Amino acid sequence: MNDSVFLAELSWPEVEQKISGGAAVFLPLGATEQHGHHMALNVDVIIPTAICERVARATGGLVAPTIPYGNRSQPRSGGGPAFPGTLNLSAHTFSLVVRDVIVELYRQKVRRIVVLNGHYENIWPSVEGIELALDAIGRDADLTILRMDHWEFARPETIERIFPEGYPGIELEHASVLETSIMLAVRPDLVDLSRALHDGPAKFRPYDRFPRPPAEVPPSGVLSMTEGSSAEKGEWLLADSVGRLVEIVNEEFK
Ligand code: ZN
Ligand code: MN
Repeated sequence: MNDSVFLAELSWPEVEQKISGGAAVFLPLGATEQHGHHMALNVDVIIPTAICERVARATGGLVAPTIPYGNRSQPRSGGGPAFPGTLNLSAHTFSLVVRDVIVELYRQKVRRIVVLNGHYENIWPSVEGIELALDAIGRDADLTILRMDHWEFARPETIERIFPEGYPGIELEHASVLETSIMLAVRPDLVDLSRALHDGPAKFRPYDRFPRPPAEVPPSGVLSMTEGSSAEKGEWLLADSVGRLVEIVNEEFK
């Protein structure tokens, strides 16, 4: 029997058996978005998928196909839509995709769902997608959904070890030390640090302006810095996320 934890890599009888055994299903939420000169566009897909794979393996769960498009990239958190290759969904469409996948999982008798987000702009539209799914399914249904953003699981000790000079904050971390380090740990073939430009950190207005002021986003697309990224730091962050999520799943779904 296939030992993949990815739902789409199994046959239907294998999926049926797992679901009837009460397996939790993990749904990673990604984006196709620029991540500087030094990384591929699929960072926000790779990271939550890798975390879900590890947690599903440790807890007997399944990983549903990652949603590869995210809610519209914003200049102050992802560089915005101007970069070649960034492909956005509107918040409305994104939340409907989340809704439909959750409704389908429920129809397939999944009763425990973990939505793990990897893209900053997906936060509220993913909450809305879950709310819409519950509107459709019914609030009294036997269904538990957990939703989280992987960067919330970095322990303060780890953040202090990585940023002894102070943490720039998650919005500015786009394509910077945290994401670059995790990518170096899980997909070093998609990272080339020799191509990183060092034109950050971004200095943003504390408000949004339309039309966009393009000069605010560093031309590289990296909002903070890549200096100090390493696979070792990526492993620390992965250990935090995977460890915490295994604890949460075991506690919530015991
Ligand atoms: Zn990202
Ligand atoms: Mn992103």
